[in-house]
Amino acid sequence: MLEQYRRLKAEHPGSLLFFRMGDFYETFGEDALIASRVLGIVLTSRDKKRDPTPLAGVPHHSIEGYLRKLVHHGYSVAIAEQMEPAEQAKGLVERQVIEVVTPGTVTRLGLLEATESNYIAALLPPGDTTGRWGVAIAEISTGEFRLGDVDFGDLPRLALEYPAREVLLPEPASRGGRGESNGAAGGVALALAAEGSPFPGACVTRLPASRFDALMGRTTLEKKFEVRRLDAFGLRDVGEGFGAAGALLDYLKSLKKSDLPQIRDARPLREGAPLVTDEVTLRNLEILESSAGPEHTLLALLDHTDTAMGARALRALLRAPASDRELLERRLDRTACLAASAPLRAEIHERLHRIPDLERALGLLGSGRASPRDLGVVRDALRRLPALRLSLEGRSDPVLRAWAAALPDLSVLTGALEEALVEELPLSATQGGIVREGYDEELDRFRRDAGDARALVLALEASERDRTGIPNLKVGYNRVFGYYIEITKSQLGRAPDDYIRKQTLTGAERYVTPELRRMEERIESAGVESSRLEAAHFQRLRDLATASIGELAAAARLVAEIDIFRSLAETAARERWTRPTLTDDRTLVLKRARHPMVERALGLGAFVPNDLSLDPEREQVWLITGPNMGGKSTFLRQVGLSVYLAQVGSFVPCEEAVVGLVDRIFTRVGASDQIARGASTFFVEMEETATILRQSTARSLVLLDEVGRGTSTYDGLSLAWAITEALHDRAGGGPRTLFATHYHELTDLEQTLPRLRNRTVRVSEENGTIVFLHEIAAGKADRSYGIHVAQLAGVPEPVLDRARAILSKLEAEHAPGAVPEFSAPLPLPLPPPPEARVTRAEKDALLDDVAEAAVESMTPLEALNTVALWRGRARGARRAR
Ligand code: ATP
Repeated sequence: MLEQYRRLKAEHPGSLLFFRMGDFYETFGEDALIASRVLGIVLTSRDKKRDPTPLAGVPHHSIEGYLRKLVHHGYSVAIAEQMEPAEQAKGLVERQVIEVVTPGTVTRLGLLEATESNYIAALLPPGDTTGRWGVAIAEISTGEFRLGDVDFGDLPRLALEYPAREVLLPEPASRGGRGESNGAAGGVALALAAEGSPFPGACVTRLPASRFDALMGRTTLEKKFEVRRLDAFGLRDVGEGFGAAGALLDYLKSLKKSDLPQIRDARPLREGAPLVTDEVTLRNLEILESSAGPEHTLLALLDHTDTAMGARALRALLRAPASDRELLERRLDRTACLAASAPLRAEIHERLHRIPDLERALGLLGSGRASPRDLGVVRDALRRLPALRLSLEGRSDPVLRAWAAALPDLSVLTGALEEALVEELPLSATQGGIVREGYDEELDRFRRDAGDARALVLALEASERDRTGIPNLKVGYNRVFGYYIEITKSQLGRAPDDYIRKQTLTGAERYVTPELRRMEERIESAGVESSRLEAAHFQRLRDLATASIGELAAAARLVAEIDIFRSLAETAARERWTRPTLTDDRTLVLKRARHPMVERALGLGAFVPNDLSLDPEREQVWLITGPNMGGKSTFLRQVGLSVYLAQVGSFVPCEEAVVGLVDRIFTRVGASDQIARGASTFFVEMEETATILRQSTARSLVLLDEVGRGTSTYDGLSLAWAITEALHDRAGGGPRTLFATHYHELTDLEQTLPRLRNRTVRVSEENGTIVFLHEIAAGKADRSYGIHVAQLAGVPEPVLDRARAILSKLEAEHAPGAVPEFSAPLPLPLPPPPEARVTRAEKDALLDDVAEAAVESMTPLEALNTVALWRGRARGARRAR
């Protein structure tokens, strides 16, 4: 047996081997050490003296929990099963590895998150002058398969769109080299990826470089999909991607010991142009995650999906916003069609909400490991499709008609499964309990036979009591000894001669009789025969379903699609969102826009909506000043979210919206340091800013929430000043930009930068009480009310008093908002020299000027300058008296 173990282990060198022995999966040697450490299970040995090989085992019925833990820690596990019952084996039980489970190739339902996709990626670094990377992506449980060539800079976006758990890379030339192969699983060596990998957090598996051959990959795909050319798949421009795809398919096949029928086609990495985002933006806008908790994300707001397939598809959709107008209009048509009718949404909800996870069942079907229960999932999903079709058919809306037409006809398979399978299906295919009464006459006969024999056994109890005169004689059954007649010790003397002793208990003896044996044999053989028949029926039905796997996958995709658009429409209707008008120019107009999550948190009516209007000719940059807590960050984010939502294909939280499609959203919102990466807070902030300055285009949207706060005031202000100018004056057109800042000095830029506008968040101040109005208006702020906000936040009074004193001293010494030396000179009149002669007319003019001064609209700086000017003129007048 150990020899068998060593052979299987040698065939799967990079994996832990789970070796089935009866009710346990055992691990030996090095594997046992790892398993016991990671799983916290006891380490033993078979015989401490003669065979000290370490040994650790887990019970077979709880394997999923253990697998989950190992895979989570980045290990791959090869599962060796007993291929025949131990009692039927002649000599050593035959064992085979039926599956290798790695982080990116899980299909077992117990190991998968219902609402998360489980991607695996293969990357082929550029080998030729194009400098492009070959990429292939698969989701083995649903059969999604994509490939393409990308630039290095696109990898982070791909990682965001397809957050792979495992990445395949060719071995470096020095270690591997072409033509080398190490065993069936390709020398799987999993290690947690080094920091800086394009797929953060993914495990890296190295395969021999020879597996990544583009020509071979292309042939593999053509063979797999039985086509002469892959052009129809939209893969015309792919080169290196075929190398990655070939390696990935190969790897999956060798792991799953299957031809992967669930992978029915290959698609390009993405259809249509993307709206590029990055992790920083996703986090800042709280699209999928929020530090405040999952219920505060955009995802949570949008997720009204009814099926696990829809929930996964919605996440995928949110990870992949687009900037392709036609594609987005098509999506918006779908959202609009369902948003328009509450009864239709309710009806579709009714149709969808009990459809089980067909997609994942298909993954198992494709790996040849679907259990009767998984086939039951397919049946349960299929039986709900006709009603869904009925809800979509005969409608006037082309969206619904197209859906109805796209739903494949699976009635034959549905009928076959309905007819054959019982309602509650078992996990095991060999123990019966799968096929309905009346489906197969022969099967029914065996069942009847077993039933009759069981009835005879029951009748036997009464007749034996009569025959022996023992009133408490019992006929019973247990799994080890089978059927028996039990007589208590006190009655032993009355046991007839034909009773054959079988087992002795403390208070009783157990017997069999030849008659009971015959009955038992009858029950047993009928049972064996009927289980065999049921297993054969199951096998046939499973093959039937596998043959339709393409249509099943199409149905699953369609269900997911209808589910996401119903979900988007539900949110749009509940939250009173509108359909955005998409354009290819660079305007961005939002009327009465809201921040959807803040609005939800504040409750109905409490959120103050705001307008935005940017265009490249006149208002390219909005510089937003205003008090702390005024709502600047909220405004920036709500603009980002509206654009993001529009470019996902959703309605937007506005009364009216015109979105000139954006190629990329950049956000810079309060930095956190990454000490582990050797980057300080300010460094991270500048790194993000550098990315924005270098990579934004005339079509981008830039949201800057304060820049330069992490350094000294003058350094920060100078940087913020220069950055704003650079974004405004960019050759070829700068990005649409919103910049929220407490550097009030920057508002002077409005006078020198023609496409910059000052906006402020209004406050009202009455009797010393400050009210935040959360209203964005033209103009600029002169104060930040920082001390006031500190007071609201509970900073102790003595500290506040001291701060007020320091502030007034600072303000007296340096006029607030003093124009720094480096700014462009302001067109302010200088005070006249003191010796100037002042006439009466001049005195009158001064008085007039004072009387008519537009104090309300002056900034403190203007006021101060004006007062200085008046003082100069007044002193001159006094001297002249
Ligand atoms: P700081 O300068 O201190 O960062 P800020 O101006 O960026 O402040 P926000 O963080 O955007 O202020 O907003 C503070 C709070 O004000 C929000 O958490 C929210 O509760 C409320 N708020 C913001 N905008 C609005 C609005 N339009 N309507 C109602 N309440 C709002």
